[in-house]
Amino acid sequence: MKRLEGKAALVTGGNSGIGLATAKQFVAEGAYVFITGRRQAELDAAVNAIGENIRGVQSDVSNLADLDRLFATIKQEQGHLDILFANAGVGEIAPLGSITEEQFDKTFSINVKGLLFTVQKALPLLPEGASIILNASLTSIKGTPAFSVYSATKAAVRSFARNWILDLKERQIRVNAISPGVVLTPGYDHLGLSDEQLQEFIDSQAVTIPLGRVGTPDEIAKAVVFLASDDSSFVNGIELFVDGGMAQI
Ligand code: NAD
Repeated sequence: MKRLEGKAALVTGGNSGIGLATAKQFVAEGAYVFITGRRQAELDAAVNAIGENIRGVQSDVSNLADLDRLFATIKQEQGHLDILFANAGVGEIAPLGSITEEQFDKTFSINVKGLLFTVQKALPLLPEGASIILNASLTSIKGTPAFSVYSATKAAVRSFARNWILDLKERQIRVNAISPGVVLTPGYDHLGLSDEQLQEFIDSQAVTIPLGRVGTPDEIAKAVVFLASDDSSFVNGIELFVDGGMAQI
């Protein structure tokens, strides 16, 4: 028996990186999976790569009308949603002193507002016992140079999990945060670093990680599958660090 057999799942930002790896594992475990992203071409490529039991819906998490359209589609096609992985997120490098209002608004709009309304608008579709997983980050509790705005959004995401388990108590819906450490994904291409600077960053991070290396999207996806499945039926409100031990030292 597969661990997510017969479940309907949504992965926001499911066309790349951690989201794509998770969508693949959800399908492999028997789920029917909706993925979202802003660009249709990338969505189509991800859907083709996964092949079956996968549906792409173009939508921007920071656009509430897009979210309404997304959940109307899920309602019409599956009727409910057992698993919600609120994964879409962005980050930009900017030290205090050169943070712009635009950067602040964009990061909070996607990572905090978008995530909140993704979950809130999904609620009517979630049955008793559903599992919500919020993609936070190790930066929710650690300092990183020039990354304070992103880190603050992830602290907010972590806080949502603590509070929402109380708001959803009557419905037996679990909410957990997953906090990846350094995981190489296409997300790093948007940081404006050269290949050399990126490699330097990865090497500098690897030596601070007890396991001595950065992680892979598949390693995060495996932990998300655990939180999505009944294997974690008594796990609620936690922040699961999947980071090679980096947050613990
Ligand atoms: P990625 O760039 O490969 O994936 C991000 C996904 O989010 C993409 O599919 C993108 O299309 C989507 N997205 C961005 N803005 C969106 C919007 N407004 N609406 C809908 N979709 C949107 O990067 P990733 O590393 O896989 O990041 C996924 C999540 O993991 C993010 O929330 C990120 O903060 C978190 N995270 C990543 C790392 C890491 O080291 N890679 C570490 C900690 C947390």
